[in-house]
Amino acid sequence: MPRDPDCVFCKIVGGQIPAAVVLQDENVLAFMDVGPLAEGHLLVVPRSHCGKLSDLEPQQYAALTLHLPALGKALERVTGAEGWNLLQNNGEVAGQTVPHVHFHLIPRRAGDGLGYRWKPGSYAAGRADELATAYREAFKSLRAER
Ligand code: 5GP
Ligand code: ZN
Repeated sequence: MPRDPDCVFCKIVGGQIPAAVVLQDENVLAFMDVGPLAEGHLLVVPRSHCGKLSDLEPQQYAALTLHLPALGKALERVTGAEGWNLLQNNGEVAGQTVPHVHFHLIPRRAGDGLGYRWKPGSYAAGRADELATAYREAFKSLRAER
């Protein structure tokens, strides 16, 4: 399993930093976030060091997401939350502070003051279609590069 000796989540996976683990298997670890946005805030990380979601192989992604439904159910049961957010930041500019890919499960309650409603923009005529074409071409190239 590739590890980065300077990475805090690799240190948790390796047992060098303690964490309150809630679930683990051969590929992933889920544990309590030390700086919770709400009580019961969970993190899920792969055991292998990997920076962004886009760096994962599809099988690694599948393994990382395997337990999300059960973790969500457990979160609802344990915290009594009315809902929860699945958050995943890629890159510093997007708010990623630990460069080891991870999902946040954040319990939500009415009036908790946590927000995520960003201001939606709009497209000039034809721009969304242009971008969709660029995406389709990018997918084709990525498939060919594999
Ligand atoms: P990000 O901002 O990268 O999406 O999220 C990183 C998360 O990791 C933050 O919510 C932060 O509280 C959590 N975190 C950082 N260092 C540690 C640590 O040593 N232990 C635990 N359990 N969580 C950590
Ligand atoms: Zn790491």
